Amino acid sequence: MYPVDLHAHTVASSHAYSTLHDYIAQAKIRGIKLFAITDHGPDMVDAPHYWHFMNMRIWPRVVDGIGILRGIEANIKNTQGEIDCTGPMLEQVDLVIAGFHEPVFPPTTQEEHTEAMINAMANGDVHIISHPGNPKFPIDIEAVAAAAAKYNVALEINNSSFEHSRKGSGENCIAIADAVKRAGGYITFGSDSHTAFTLGDFANSAKIAAQVDFPEERILNVTPRRLLNFLEMRGKPIITEFVDF
Ligand SMILES: [Zn+2]
Ligand SMILES: [Zn+2]
Repeated sequence: MYPVDLHAHTVASSHAYSTLHDYIAQAKIRGIKLFAITDHGPDMVDAPHYWHFMNMRIWPRVVDGIGILRGIEANIKNTQGEIDCTGPMLEQVDLVIAGFHEPVFPPTTQEEHTEAMINAMANGDVHIISHPGNPKFPIDIEAVAAAAAKYNVALEINNSSFEHSRKGSGENCIAIADAVKRAGGYITFGSDSHTAFTLGDFANSAKIAAQVDFPEERILNVTPRRLLNFLEMRGKPIITEFVDF
């Protein structure tokens, strides 16, 4: 039903266990047409080296009809909203998701989390905020949703926040989806896979969207074209291998 997954980690992040090949095989099984590999930005303790991101250009764009996006899950580093994906890295990646991770940004106050997240969106390089519903990083949900709509940044309803990590995200995610709906912004679903077996798992995210009656036309995973149009609207170059997607 949702053929696009925008959040997956490979063995390049050492707490994840699958390869690009594993994800392609699983995409075929699950009917995923386009997915992004988004390993952790280099400031995270077990992240790949900067060269990992710079060399993603050697990946094929399409394998067996499945499109592969070169992504990063960058870290929001400070209240100025700086991220660990800058300069030439930004040109190598198709998709920048960014979020809070405790080793890089230890939780502080709701005011500071909100300020950092809004500045990260305002700075212009981030396309999606990962797991904004994380209860360890409370935010002013209304303010973040308004800024996300203003800057055309999607807020992620992270499917694994309900399975293994970030316990207590459920209520926050409902409030986020509802606030984004009212603000006129976008949401994305992300499996946040750390093994390929969960690629395309969106059952929890879809349940949240249904609960707030979120408009389907503003969920970016509904078709590959919708997501590609979003990235082009955000100023990313057209990827010629994907023109028929
Ligand atoms: Zn994350
Ligand atoms: Zn992740």
